[in-house]
Amino acid sequence: MSDRAARTFDVLVVGGGNAALCAAMTARRAAAKVLLLEASPEAFRGGNSRHTRDIRYLHDRSTDYLTGAYPEDEFWDDLFRVTGGETNERLAGLTIRESADLGEWMARHGIRWQRPLHGTLHLSRTNAFFLGGGKALVNAYYDTARRLGVQLAYDSEVRELDIREGRFLSAVVGREGESREIRAKTVILASGGFEANIPWLKEYWGEAADNFAIRGTPYNQGRVLRQLLDHGARPVGNPREFHAIAVDARGPKFDGGIVTRLDTIPFGIAVNEHARRFYDEGEDLWPKRYAIWGGLIARQPDQIAFSILDSKVMERFMPSVFPAIPAHSVRELALALKLAPTALEATVAEFNRSVRPGPYDPSGLDGCRTEGLEPPKSHWALRLDVPPFYAYPLRPGITFTYLGVTVDERARVVMQDDRPAQNVFAAGEIMAGNVLGRGYLAGFGLTIGSVFGRIAGREAARCAVA
Ligand SMILES: Cc1cc2nc3c(=O)[nH]c(=O)nc-3n(C[C@H](O)[C@H](O)[C@H](O)COP(=O)(O)OP(=O)(O)OC[C@H]3O[C@@H](n4cnc5c(N)ncnc54)[C@H](O)[C@@H]3O)c2cc1C
Repeated sequence: MSDRAARTFDVLVVGGGNAALCAAMTARRAAAKVLLLEASPEAFRGGNSRHTRDIRYLHDRSTDYLTGAYPEDEFWDDLFRVTGGETNERLAGLTIRESADLGEWMARHGIRWQRPLHGTLHLSRTNAFFLGGGKALVNAYYDTARRLGVQLAYDSEVRELDIREGRFLSAVVGREGESREIRAKTVILASGGFEANIPWLKEYWGEAADNFAIRGTPYNQGRVLRQLLDHGARPVGNPREFHAIAVDARGPKFDGGIVTRLDTIPFGIAVNEHARRFYDEGEDLWPKRYAIWGGLIARQPDQIAFSILDSKVMERFMPSVFPAIPAHSVRELALALKLAPTALEATVAEFNRSVRPGPYDPSGLDGCRTEGLEPPKSHWALRLDVPPFYAYPLRPGITFTYLGVTVDERARVVMQDDRPAQNVFAAGEIMAGNVLGRGYLAGFGLTIGSVFGRIAGREAARCAVA
C-alpha cells in the first residue's frame, strides 16, 4: 500500500448502483458524513441499475402511473410462486411492506414516472416505469446525493476490507494506480453480485463461462462479496445459480443491457450447433420460461444455439438490435449459420411432420403442438414452411448471480456464528438471495435494493452517531 491516508467518515458506502445510492441518500439525510465509492469511471457509473426500466411496489389503488391496485397478499403470492418458497419469510414480508412508499420516495429523490403505455410487458398494474430508464434513474440519484452532500469518488474499487470479530475498521481502495486506506465508523456494502467475474463463474461452469455474455456492468467482480465471505459472513443463495436469458450472440461481452435480449424462441424452433432441438420451445407462457433459456444454452456444445423462424411470425416479437439472418431455403440458412445443411433440413422436416394444426394463439396456451416428437413443442407449434427463413444466434446472457451474504431486518450482515456484525450492512444484489432464493419477479431487484438500501442507510447512520 503506497498511501495509508487515514480518513474517517460516519458511513462508507461501497458500490454505485441503486442500492448504494438509496443507502447513501438516506444516511446523509440522517446527518451522517457519507462517502460513496464507485469502482467504475463516472461515465459508466450505476452498475446494473442503469439497465433497468421498472420497479415493483405495493400500492392500494391505481395512480397516474399504475393501472390498478397491487395488494400485499397478491405480491406475496407472486413472490412465493417464483421462489418456490426459497425465501426468508420475515425479510420478504418486510421488503413487500416497506416498498409501499417507494413511488413517492423515489419521486422526491428526483425520479420522474412514465404514464403506462399500452402493452408495457403486461406489467403496468404491478410495476411503475421511470422516464428515461435506468440511466435517468441513476443520474437523478447521483445528482440528489451530491446536492445532499454525499461525497462521491469514481474509479475507486474497494479491494480489501479490514473486519475483525464482526467489526469493520477500514477499506483499502485502489484509485489512480494507488492504494488508500479509508476508515469509517460503519460500512454499507452494495457492490452487486459476481456475474462479471469469469474465473469465478468457471469454478462452477468450467470453460463454458468463456462463452457467456454478461448483460450488465463489467465492474461487478464480486471482490467485496469474496472479502465478506472470507471474513466469516454467512453465505446465502446457491453459488452455482444465476439468472440467465437468451441474448443475441452478436452482442458485446459486457453491458449489452436490454437491447440484445431475444424473445423469439416460442415462435419457431431452437437448435444447437448440431442442428438438433434440445428443449420444448412452447412449454409454458414466455414470461414464465424466458429465464430458463440462458441455462439451457449454457449446457449446449460451445454454448451456442439458433432461433429458427419463418416469415409468418417475423412481425410478432420485439427485434434484437441486430437484424435476423435471412435465407431463401432451410439449406441456405444452415450454410449461413455454419450448420450441417442436411442436419438442419432433417430437423425442420421432422418438426413440420409432427405439427398438429390448431387455432394458433400466441397470447395464450393454444395447444398447437407436436405429436410423437422428442422433445415436444407443446404450444404455438407452426410449420416452418413460408420462406424466407430467418435465424438469430443465441448465447447465455447472465443477468445476476444468486450467491450473497445473510442479513437481518436491520440490514446487518450476519456472521457464521449467527450474530450480526456490529457495523457492517449490506443492500441490493449482494444480499438479494435472502429474499429471492430462486427465480425472478420483474422489477423486484430494484425493490429489494431500494428497501434494504434505505434500511441500511438509516441503521448505519444511527450506529455511527451512537
Ligand atoms: C439488462 C438488465 C436489466 C434489468 N432490468 C431490471 C428492471 O427493469 N427492474 C429491476 O428491478 N431489476 C432489473 N435488473 C436487475 C437490477 O439491475 C438489479 O437487481 C439491481 O440493479 C441491483 O442493484 P445493486 O445496486 O445491488 O447493484 P448494481 O446496480 O449492479 O451496482 C453495483 C455497483 O457496485 C460497484 N462495485 C462493484 N464492485 C465494487 C468494488 N469492489 N468497489 C466499489 N464499487 C464496486 C459497481 O461498479 C456498481 O456500481 C436488470 C438487470 C440487467 C442486467
